[in-house]
Amino acid sequence: MEPTRAWTTADRSDERPTDRHGPGRYRTGDRLFFYTLFYFALAVSIEVWWLNTPGGSLTTPADALIAAGRITGMAGGFVLLVQVLMMSRAAWLEAWVGAHELLIWHRALGGAVVVVVLAHTGLIIVGYAAAAGTSLVSETWSMLSAYRDMLSAFAATGLLVAIGVLAIRAVRRRIRYEIWYYLHLASYLVLLLGYGHQFSDGADLQSGFARWYWISLYCFVLAALVWGRVVEPLWLNLRHRFRVLDVVPEGADMISIYVGGRRLDRLDAQAGQYFRWRFLTRGAWWQAHPFSLSAAPNAAWLRITVKVVGDHTGDLRTLAPGVRVFAEGPSGAFTAERRLRHGALLIAGGSGIAPIRALLDDLPADTVLLFRARSPQELTFRAELDALAAERGIEVWYVLGARDDPGPRHAFTPRGLRELVPDVRRRDVYMCGPAGLISTSRRALRRLRVPGRQIHLDPFEF
Ligand SMILES: Cc1cc2nc3c(=O)[nH]c(=O)nc-3n(C[C@H](O)[C@H](O)[C@H](O)COP(=O)(O)OP(=O)(O)OC[C@H]3O[C@@H](n4cnc5c(N)ncnc54)[C@H](O)[C@@H]3O)c2cc1C
Repeated sequence: MEPTRAWTTADRSDERPTDRHGPGRYRTGDRLFFYTLFYFALAVSIEVWWLNTPGGSLTTPADALIAAGRITGMAGGFVLLVQVLMMSRAAWLEAWVGAHELLIWHRALGGAVVVVVLAHTGLIIVGYAAAAGTSLVSETWSMLSAYRDMLSAFAATGLLVAIGVLAIRAVRRRIRYEIWYYLHLASYLVLLLGYGHQFSDGADLQSGFARWYWISLYCFVLAALVWGRVVEPLWLNLRHRFRVLDVVPEGADMISIYVGGRRLDRLDAQAGQYFRWRFLTRGAWWQAHPFSLSAAPNAAWLRITVKVVGDHTGDLRTLAPGVRVFAEGPSGAFTAERRLRHGALLIAGGSGIAPIRALLDDLPADTVLLFRARSPQELTFRAELDALAAERGIEVWYVLGARDDPGPRHAFTPRGLRELVPDVRRRDVYMCGPAGLISTSRRALRRLRVPGRQIHLDPFEF
C-alpha cells in the first residue's frame, strides 16, 4: 500500500504548544474522598441491618448466623453496585478516581464480592436450618420453593461465581478475550437477578429509609451506566462523525490508522489516552478494541498505531478510507498532566511505543526516551523520533539486542538507568511495553528510590 498520509514534523502544528500540561500535584484529596465515600456508604448499608434489629434479639447461635447472613447480604449487594459503577465508563468517574485506580479497585473488589455473596448464602441457609432444626438440603429446598425471587438469587450467585473464576488471571489467559468479555458483561444480569431478591426477600429492605436508600443507590448506578455507556458515546460520535482517512504501514507487523472527523479541534482528548474503536465494516462492527492515540490529537486527524497480533488487528490492515468509525472514550490517565515533576523518562517496548510517542508531543524538551527493541527493523516511528530529537532536543536512546544480550539487560538495571538518566529520581517515569520490560524497569526504579507515585503504567490490559 502506498502511504498517502504520514506524520511530518509540521503536524506538530504551531497552534499546539508542547508541554501544555505542567506538572500537577499528587491528588490524595480526590482519592481520599472516594475511599471515605466508599466506606461511609458501605457502613450505611450495614447500618440498615442495625436499625432493623431490636436490641437483645440475638439470643441463639442461629440468630447470630442469620444476622451475619443479613449483614453479608447488604455488604455484597453494595459492593456489587460499586463494581458495576466502576465499570460504567462515565468520564467524570475516570477523571475523578483515575482509570487505572478504578481497574485496581475493580479487580480487588471482584474477589471480595464473590466471597461475601457466598458467605451470605451459606450463613443464611445454615442459620435458618439451625433455627428450624432441619437439614441444609431441606432448608435450601424450602427456600427455593417458598420465597419469591429466591431461584433468581441462586442463579445470580452461580453466575457471579463463574465470572469470578474466569477473572482469575491463570484461567483468563487460557480463554478467548471475547468469551471473558461477554461473560463479564453478565454482571449486569447478576444485578438484575439480585434486584428482585433484595427487595422481595431482604428483611432489611422492606420499608422506610433502608428501602429508599437502596433504591437511590440502584438509580445512581443505573444513571451512571446509561450516561457512560450510552449517552457519552452517542454524543461523541454524533458530534465528530469519525471516518478512516488512511492506513499506513509502519514496519512488518505495525500499521497506523489515521481517523478524521468533524470539529476535532473540540475533541477533549490528550496524548496517552485511548479509545475503544469499532470499525463499521461487515466483519468488524460487532467488536470494539482499545487502541491508544499514537500522536497528540490535532484538528485534522487522530492516529492510532496497531500491532498485528490476531484476527481483528490483522483485518485492520485492509481497512479502506471512508469506513465509518464508532469510538468510545477517551479513557485513561497516562497523560502528561498526571506528572508530579517537570522532567520525564519514557520507557517503551514493542507496540507500547504508541502512547509513549504521543506523550512526546505533550512533554518538555528535556524528556528522555528509552526504546527497547530486538533489532532496528522493530523501531516503529524511528524517523519521527529522530526528527523530534533533532528539532526539539529530546534525548532518544534505542536499546537494541536480543532478550539475553548483556548490553540491553544492563540498561534496565539500577546502574544502567542511572548512567543513562542520572537525574532519574527527579523525573516522572512513563512505561508501556512487554510485561518483562516493565517489571525489570520497575524493580530498578524502586531500587533507585524513584517514588511510586512518579511511576505511570499503561499495561495494555484490562
Ligand atoms: C488500554 C489499552 C490500550 C491499548 N493500546 C494499544 C495500542 O495502542 N496499540 C496496539 O497495538 N495494541 C494496543 N492494545 C492491545 C490491543 O487492544 C489488542 O492487541 C487487540 O485488541 C488484539 O485484538 P486481536 O483480535 O487482533 O487479537 P487476539 O488474538 O484476539 O487477542 C490478543 C490479546 O489481545 C487482548 N484483546 C483481544 N481483544 C481485545 C479487546 N476487544 N479489548 C481488549 N483487549 C483485547 C487479549 O488479551 C488477547 O489475549 C491496547 C490494549 C489496551 C487494554
